[in-house]
Amino acid sequence: MKLSDPRLFRQYAYVDGKWTHGEGGREEPVFNPATGEVLGHIPLLETEQVNAAVDAAEAAFTQWRALRADERCERLLAWYDLLQANREDLATIMTLEQGKPMPDARGEVEYGASFVRWFAEEGKRTFGETIPSHIPNAALGTIKEPVGIAALITPWNFPLAMITRKAAAAMAAGCPVIVKPAHETPFSALALAELAERAGIPAGVFNVVLGEAAEVSKLLCYDDRVKALSFTGSTRVGRLLLEQCANTVKRVSLELGGNAPFIVGPDMDPKEAAYAAVAAKFQTAGQDCLAADRILVHESIHEAFVEHFAERMAALTVGNGLESEIDLGPLIHRQAVEKAAAVVDDAISKGATLVAGDQSQAPGENFFMPVLLTGVTHDMKIWHEESFAPVAGITAYADDDQVIEMANDTEYGLAAYIYTHDIRRIWKIMRALEFGMVAVNSVKMTGPPVPFGGVKHSGLGREGGVTGIDEYLETKYYCLGALGSVSGS
Ligand code: NAP
Repeated sequence: MKLSDPRLFRQYAYVDGKWTHGEGGREEPVFNPATGEVLGHIPLLETEQVNAAVDAAEAAFTQWRALRADERCERLLAWYDLLQANREDLATIMTLEQGKPMPDARGEVEYGASFVRWFAEEGKRTFGETIPSHIPNAALGTIKEPVGIAALITPWNFPLAMITRKAAAAMAAGCPVIVKPAHETPFSALALAELAERAGIPAGVFNVVLGEAAEVSKLLCYDDRVKALSFTGSTRVGRLLLEQCANTVKRVSLELGGNAPFIVGPDMDPKEAAYAAVAAKFQTAGQDCLAADRILVHESIHEAFVEHFAERMAALTVGNGLESEIDLGPLIHRQAVEKAAAVVDDAISKGATLVAGDQSQAPGENFFMPVLLTGVTHDMKIWHEESFAPVAGITAYADDDQVIEMANDTEYGLAAYIYTHDIRRIWKIMRALEFGMVAVNSVKMTGPPVPFGGVKHSGLGREGGVTGIDEYLETKYYCLGALGSVSGS
């Protein structure tokens, strides 16, 4: 691995400011999904070691919360500067462990860093309020206090940004964090730890634990000293964690699966809409919770849309993300390829038409060539499940009411896209969609200032924006009584 700074590549856990190996001697390999080569090994921590991370966070909490908000801001901004300064190495590590093309990995480093800067500043604005008193001679108000230790469990598709979007908010609020990254992509998390240390984040404030997911998560969820759990990942695991947090009544934030509809109105230029749909479908090789999974096109432009979509899709290049001019890297592992193939087979067996997608062209065993299916219907897996693969399914619809019903026909409610220039149609559909985020005539919708999150089975809470930090804050109400005569009471 060619890094300008090889110390960013760490094969240890990071607990209490120390690089830690597994005391039981257990470890596992991490693979490069593009080549199948072993990139390195990570330790699997024992129970006592995970508990030690909670001890360390508990000890660090006293000191970290006592810092002034502007002092925490400075440390976080130093971390931000280091992320930017090491962007190329961080992107290389990410491409090697996750597979995404280098330009996308650089983009994710920028995106992930932008949350650190955003929350560094937001930490200075965790205002309480004064409340006009209804109690004689009393002053009423609220102050915001850090909730306590936050456990952060994150997925492999955005190995860096899904950590910073949580950790920066928690740390800015005054909370220490314990990160459990996905086992496929631990090295981005560990590079973040190395840079946090260099930024002067005190020992115990940013910890990275590694281990068997079910074991580690139980330890964190059942520990009463851990006050918040923030999870990004599948709805299946999110439900499990919500249950595990019930006994200790933790604050739980969940960013779960998506199954985004991409609605194209009859007034649209089919080429413009098709190019946008390709962009919304194939980022991160379709392994994206915002991926346009169900493309719903008005019947009057369906044929032209499909032609333009197929033409644009054919231009996508597939290969090792370290090479130049690559649009789609590999899928994360062989099981993901098998799942993608099964979703395609299921759709074809139920009547969908395979317009394009020849797997014999795949450049390696973890690669999946983009697939275009038309005639996708409600009874197919691709309609209800996240394919998490470069498989696009198109369905024709007749009118607005029908497309609203189709779009909402899913347990998920994360993001939706609408392409039309008819303002009445935009308003009607946007209001009727049961999704937490709706992008109109735009593929790009995320970033630090916006509240990211879903409804229905896509999650609880919001990340980013002015409310993202609230996931890590308690509101303390005070009533200062017996003040004598208080003006305005
Ligand atoms: P996943 O299988 O749910 O894994 C996510 C995390 O949970 C990993 O750290 C994993 O650890 C851990 N985990 C797995 N099984 C567990 C268990 N039994 N108990 C406790 N923890 C467990 O999801 P994924 O495949 O990594 O990620 C894809 C999913 O994330 C998709 O559904 C996608 O839509 C969703 N996602 C949502 C957002 C959003 O913001 N809404 C963003 C990105 C991704 P190990 O890796 O060690 O098994």
